[in-house]
Amino acid sequence: MDLIKKITAPNSGVFTGEGTNTYLIGKEDLTLVDPGPNIKEHIDKIIQVAQGKIQRILVTHTHTDHSPAALPISKVLKVPMYGRLVDGESSWEDETFIPDVVLNDGDLIETNEYTLEVIHTPGHASNHLCFLIKELNCLLTGDHIMEGSTVVIGPPDGSMQDYLESLDKLHSYKIDSLAPGHGNYMHEPKKIIESITRHRLSRENKVIRRLEEVYSSDLEKLTSLVYDDVSPQLHIIAKFSLEAHLIKLIKEGVVKEDNGIFSRI
Ligand SMILES: [Zn+2]
Repeated sequence: MDLIKKITAPNSGVFTGEGTNTYLIGKEDLTLVDPGPNIKEHIDKIIQVAQGKIQRILVTHTHTDHSPAALPISKVLKVPMYGRLVDGESSWEDETFIPDVVLNDGDLIETNEYTLEVIHTPGHASNHLCFLIKELNCLLTGDHIMEGSTVVIGPPDGSMQDYLESLDKLHSYKIDSLAPGHGNYMHEPKKIIESITRHRLSRENKVIRRLEEVYSSDLEKLTSLVYDDVSPQLHIIAKFSLEAHLIKLIKEGVVKEDNGIFSRI
């Protein structure tokens, strides 16, 4: 894949795995995708690897581990930033990112070397975009699909219903490989997407089963019941996704909430 270079930022952690992946697409006309956190060492490395050839900066979404380096790089290199703003409130927002060019579903970024197709994939974040490199059928997935861990869906900006729909949407594209925002390149995308969807739906079924067993529960207790197969240290993260499942189930008329207590209808 000599059209793609991956540089991983030094921001490993519970939410970020080994760190955020920054990608440089192209040979002479470079597109920088997800410049990552505003860490000097990381920015210096990007600029050094790119050798003055970056023409534009794209971000998949504006969580603080993906976009804060966009503004400083854009200022130094005098190149535009492309992306979207979130629809409403978000807890992990990088406020410094204001796109010069707003991207919409279906937009094409065409260069002499490659074409990138923009796919709007709300779910992890309302403004989440994936970018398909048409020449390689390689999808830059941001945080829509990660390697090695499950994506967090944090309401109110994150939505489980949107997430599942955005996974389904990918089946209509020709995709041979995935370049995620965290972790390594992945092949067999169809299998991966199907297994993520299955995993989410089976977790949702477990939410319903547990609520049937205990009749009612608050979010805290329900997290430990539904994620009893996951290390308790990760429950703080799992709680976000559980809330996203519950919002979806309430909308579907399967679960109800009364003063923070959830029960099956
Ligand atoms: Zn994110």
